[in-house]
Amino acid sequence: MGMGDRERPLRVGVIGCGWFAYNHLHAWREIPEVALVAVCDRDAERARDAAEAHGVPMWYEDAEAMLDAERLDFVDVVTTPPSHRPLVEAAARRGIPVICQKPLAIALDDARAMVAACRDAGVPLMVHENFRWQPPMRAARRLLDEGAVGRPFFGRISWRTARDVFAVQPYLAEEAHLILADIGVHMLDLARFFFGEPRALVCQTLRVRPTIKGEDVATLLLEFDDASCILDFSYSSHAPEDLYPQQLLHIEGTEGAVDIGPHYRLSLARADGTVEERDVPLHRYPWSTPPIEVAQDSVVAIQRHWVACLRGEQTPETSGEDNLRTLELVDGAYASAASGTIYRPAHDEDAHRPR
Ligand code: NAD
Repeated sequence: MGMGDRERPLRVGVIGCGWFAYNHLHAWREIPEVALVAVCDRDAERARDAAEAHGVPMWYEDAEAMLDAERLDFVDVVTTPPSHRPLVEAAARRGIPVICQKPLAIALDDARAMVAACRDAGVPLMVHENFRWQPPMRAARRLLDEGAVGRPFFGRISWRTARDVFAVQPYLAEEAHLILADIGVHMLDLARFFFGEPRALVCQTLRVRPTIKGEDVATLLLEFDDASCILDFSYSSHAPEDLYPQQLLHIEGTEGAVDIGPHYRLSLARADGTVEERDVPLHRYPWSTPPIEVAQDSVVAIQRHWVACLRGEQTPETSGEDNLRTLELVDGAYASAASGTIYRPAHDEDAHRPR
């Protein structure tokens, strides 16, 4: 496959040319080691428009036809969740590495089957779990790694908006599994990024908007060996200023606290009473579309990470295997919300290792 061959770019085919694919397509074009050689959408007009807009030589309506016709080094799946499994399996059958959008699948069994198919085929699979690649989250993580707050014992990660996400993503209104599946995966991935593997969680979900099928508000308490973390997220929260799509972060440790406040303001409060504050800079591209520049920046970052993984320089932070842990927690959160009980992930010797 020549993936170690630094002479030629990696050839990618993108499947799904809808709303979010705009960011993937632009991001691939930011990465010189990648050649965007084909796009595919079952809606031919979308595929053709994407190819024209991004100067892509080939476009397809049928993903399997693209996989058979093109010599691809990897595929990028940016379709909605019901098609993720057949598309990932189609790539695995042909030995083509895949980066797939979140949620990898709505049903855990589907996700497990996809991970197994890629493992059996010896094909790398990574989930496009980009929230942890946002510069403010990386900056906070660096401070924790440097020991700036001592031993972290409490966290709160918040994502609340009243923005009409259903206007651009109408499929969300039809999902019986809504905010836990769509945003919960990101929030649980972030909790794991900062704290490792939880040993228990409780969750309450609510449906506030009457016009949708699933839950639009969720609140979780995660229990770690020596820390607690609250995750709260909502599509239906009014506020003096709507901060979509920003996450607010607060982590307390034995020696201080780190916060990501509104507009990517990072603050570090130390036990000696001193406070340092700065703005975390975002990379703004000519194609950035406020207010989601932070997401767009993170898409470029995770796609660069995937390329480094294919080059053998890094290992995927959110491989398929890794992401199963996040999806198990999503399932556990639904179970907790339905039953009103505590969910405890199955015991796993490796699970509590710091990552
Ligand atoms: P969308 O409906 O706008 O686009 C999906 C496209 O995929 C559509 O054009 C559809 O025709 C096409 N498609 C579906 N099945 C196909 C198949 N089998 N073969 C070829 N094309 C197919 O959806 P979207 O809002 O762009 O979301 C796509 C994915 O991106 C979802 O999984 C969503 O959760 C994810 N997403 C992630 C983020 C993030 O920050 N990571 C943000 C938004 C959306």
